[in-house]
Amino acid sequence: MSSNTSRKLDAGLVCALKLAARGARGILINNHVQNALQIRDQVSALAPFFDFISYDDLKERLQSRSKKKPFCLMTFDDGKAINATETAPELLRLGVPAVFYLVTGAMGGKTAFWFDRLTALRRADGSVELPTLADFKAMPWRERDRVLDELCDRYDVHVDFSDPIARGMSWDEAARLQREGFELGSHTVDHAILTVETEEEAHRQIAASRDEMVQHGLTCRSFAFPNGNATRALVEIALQAGFESTVTTAPVWIRRRDMLSCLPRLYLKERANTLHIHTKALAARTGFALSNPSGEGRSYLFGR
Ligand SMILES: [Zn+2]
Repeated sequence: MSSNTSRKLDAGLVCALKLAARGARGILINNHVQNALQIRDQVSALAPFFDFISYDDLKERLQSRSKKKPFCLMTFDDGKAINATETAPELLRLGVPAVFYLVTGAMGGKTAFWFDRLTALRRADGSVELPTLADFKAMPWRERDRVLDELCDRYDVHVDFSDPIARGMSWDEAARLQREGFELGSHTVDHAILTVETEEEAHRQIAASRDEMVQHGLTCRSFAFPNGNATRALVEIALQAGFESTVTTAPVWIRRRDMLSCLPRLYLKERANTLHIHTKALAARTGFALSNPSGEGRSYLFGR
């Protein structure tokens, strides 16, 4: 697409989004490892339509029916080092608050994330026959990690922890983010997809990650479901473990029925340009146009 066509298309989207935003409460954005430039571009694409709010403002804004601009709360899953070294400093400079969801078993590069190990295996040798991403997502985390341990040993593959996109941030970096006013939440101990775990293990993943954060002196009020897979029963377990909110990946703006206990979020890719961000935000406003990146299609329409 020529840049002229893209500009014209975006001008139309901006008008449509401004209309769509009227009367809306807000949106939560689900990010991961955006670098400084990527987050700057995302903020400038969203700023005309939304007020960027902090986690502390969320409760009040969920209930408010004011005629202000709808709110936008930025969230980042996985707690990778780049969030501490690049993303948060840029957000601070822009005055945009955010929530960072940590995987406590991966802090400081203690263990590699399973999806980064799979990427490293794929890069190492294209001829290696590997289970698919969907196969791994269907496995309980212990089995998933056992299969990956075997494959990584067999092909002598390691994740490069010098890369801040591959390494989890350190506890010191997390503490600094909290001191700077960012909210920290939990994203389990082992990035376990909780809908394929036993209830007992799901409870452990949720409660132990929170305990570990608290032991490190961090406040932990919110929980993000890995891969976005959630059920009402899992939300209940998180609330019983002491969380006040959970977030999923249902790709919609905040709806009338949404409460702090379970909030939808719109996933944006690191490389999403302005046109893509505006298109996706508009599609999400319909409440049904986008598929859930959790792999659950449009089941978010009916609740689970
Ligand atoms: Zn994640």
